[in-house]
Parts: sequence; structure tokens; C-alpha cells
Amino acid sequence: MSESYEKDFPQARLEREGERLVYLDNAATTLKPRAVIDRIKAYYESEVSNVHRGAHELADMGTSNYESARRNVANFINAKSPNEIVFTRGTTEGVNLVANAFGRANIGEGDEIILTELEHHSNIVPWQRLAEEVGAKIKVIPILDSGDLDLAKYDELLSPKTKMVSFLSISNALGVKNKVKQIIEKAKAVGAKTLVDAAQSVSTLKTDVQDWDCDFLVFSGHKLFGPNGIGVLYGKEQLLNELPPYQGGGSMIDEVTFDKTTYLQTPQRYEAGTPNVAGVVGLDAAVSYLQSVGLDSVQSVEEKLVKATVEGLRDIPGLRIFADPEERVNVVSFEIEGAHPSDVGHLLNQQKVAVRTGHHCCQPLMKRLGVPGTVRASFSLYNTEEDVDRLLRAVKKTKEFL
Ligand SMILES: *Cc1c(COP(=O)(O)O)cnc(C)c1O
Repeated sequence: MSESYEKDFPQARLEREGERLVYLDNAATTLKPRAVIDRIKAYYESEVSNVHRGAHELADMGTSNYESARRNVANFINAKSPNEIVFTRGTTEGVNLVANAFGRANIGEGDEIILTELEHHSNIVPWQRLAEEVGAKIKVIPILDSGDLDLAKYDELLSPKTKMVSFLSISNALGVKNKVKQIIEKAKAVGAKTLVDAAQSVSTLKTDVQDWDCDFLVFSGHKLFGPNGIGVLYGKEQLLNELPPYQGGGSMIDEVTFDKTTYLQTPQRYEAGTPNVAGVVGLDAAVSYLQSVGLDSVQSVEEKLVKATVEGLRDIPGLRIFADPEERVNVVSFEIEGAHPSDVGHLLNQQKVAVRTGHHCCQPLMKRLGVPGTVRASFSLYNTEEDVDRLLRAVKKTKEFL
């Protein structure tokens, strides 16, 4: 019997009408462990102060905790220096920051940006806006029927015109795991910069920015057992120091006159205004929690549950699982043939099983699959085999009902 992590997450035991609520919407956001909840509470009860400019004890402590979190996050993703860690609002803000700061300085008329058919809207729209503004072109790596990227097509798309390749490590809609290192190597060969959207992988796979050698990487705290409204942008230090700031304001300046302002180096350069201090210490607690559990434990729980779900769903006639990738992580997307995903979600919800239905912020991918949306079950550390049984039973019952 392996260890159970359910006890660390108060919400994992939530009941509705006397029945435990099975939470299988982890790709949208994860539940929070007691350690994170307590850390945020402690901050608001006894540590509140602003950072980086205090003349008193609490401000010093706040700054010290804030910068210690930066070091811990740097360590967690194996960055060379804490200066490579910029705190943001989340994945979405991270991509917007790079599209604006890097994009406007380095991407121009006729240049090309490569994305993939698997992308989340937050890694499509900021690039599209940039491309429209500067006259650049978006190229898209298509998927094969298995859901894996067509890397032969990627080779054809790459050229000296490619300035950026921006892609996700794991698909939030299908659970497809991408070959991150290989995609980056090929981009580097034509001199393009790379951004990895690690929103789905950071809580499961080892993130190693030096091994991957990406230029930028983004993720959100709330998909990593941490709070909302906080995220991380990693960027190579030299590159971040060369780029213009994204937002202007307090805490990011070297000297201000009405004629001209000079800026601090990274990371302060990109952290204008009062930061989300509670979010940062909460994220720090989430990273510590994950490190104490170990990514190996997360992987072994998730692998077992995903396998049981795929096998169980395959035994149900009239049910279609989307994608059959080389490696599936965390997510199983399916449909009951002839039923609208939102009707299925509604009936599963009545049986106290929480899944996500719809396009999962991936409309171009849904178009490729030829469906309006899917039913998505996604797993995390605190899910159990009982949760998989509850899902399978609820799906069978739903099928009878429809
Ligand atoms: C959730 C998610 C995002 C967006 O994250 P936000 O926290 O909403 O900014 C982007 N990409 C992927 C792959 C995601 O799963």
C-alpha cells in the first residue's frame, strides 16, 4: 500500500450531500495542501509589510522571505541564478511579458513565430497580437492522429526567419507529453529563441532549465498546489538584462528624472509595483511541499490512475478517448459518442464527480479533432483508485441515462 497524500489536502475530503466530492479537474487548478494554506494565513496574521524598501523589522523579514522564495524556485527548476526568476501573475502574464519585451525588440516584419496545434490560448493570443503589430507570421506545428506533434513538419517550418518557438511541455487538453529537449535543439540550430509553457508539467515532471536550455519558461502557482495570482517567468540572465521592461513603475528603476529613466537589472526590472508577497511565500511553501513529497511520488500516483482510467474507459462501448500519444501524462480526454460534452459533465457532476468539459482554452485543437469540446479527467497526487472507480461508474450510469 503506497502512502496516501489525501490527508494533506483539506478539500480532497469535501463532501456534498453525504458523498465525497471526487475532484478530477486538476489540469484547471490543483487543490492546496494544509502547508500552503497555513503559510498564507501566517503571512496575513503576523508578517504583513511591503518588500525592498522598509526601514523596519517586518519589512526586512518580508524582503528576506521574498528573496529566499526566489532562490528556492531557482533551485527547484535548476536555474543558474535567482536573477533568472521573475515573479508574475501566472503563465498568461509570463507569455505576454515575453511577447512584449522580447518580441517587440527582436521580431519584425517577415519574421516567423512557431507555435503548436496543442497550444493553450494564452500561448497563442499574445503572439498573434505581436505578429499583427509588427508584421510577423505565425506558423503552426500540426499534430498527428496520435496527438503527438508532427516533428517532420516542424523541420520544414524552421528557417532563419524563425525568431521564436513557443510551445507547451504537456498538453492540458490531451495529456500529450512533448519532446521538449529535441524541439529546443532544433530551434537553436536556426538561431531561434524558445519559450516553454510548463503550466501542466511543473507539478509532475522534473523541470531543468539548464538541461533543456530554453531561453524562457513560464508557469502558474495555482497548478502547482500554490495560490492564485502568482507565477514564474524564467529567462536567461543576460537575455533578461538586454530586454526593455514590460511595465514601468516603482521598484524597477535605477534613476528617474522627467527627461529620462534608467532601469534596474533583472529581476527587479520586471517587477514594477508592489508584488504579491503572500502569493510568493505561498508558492514557496508549495514548492517545499512538492519537494518533500518528491516528483517520483507524484508521477507514480498519476501514472497508475491514468492507466486505470484509460483501461476502464476502453472497456465501455460507445466511448472514445482522444489521442493515443507515445506518452500520456495526467490527463484523459474523452467523449460519449452522440452526447454533448457539457451534458456528460452535468450528469457526472450530479454523481459528485468533478471534471472539465468544453474546449479547455484550445479552440484550434478542438477544430483539428473535429469536436466542440471533450470531457476531461485530470489527476493529481491526492487522487485515489477509488476516485477512478467513481468516475468509471458515473460514466457508465451517464451512458445509460443519455
Ligand atoms: C493553465 C494553463 C495556461 C494558463 O495558465 P494561467 O494560470 O491561466 O495563466 C497556459 N498553458 C497551459 C498548458 C495551461 O495548462
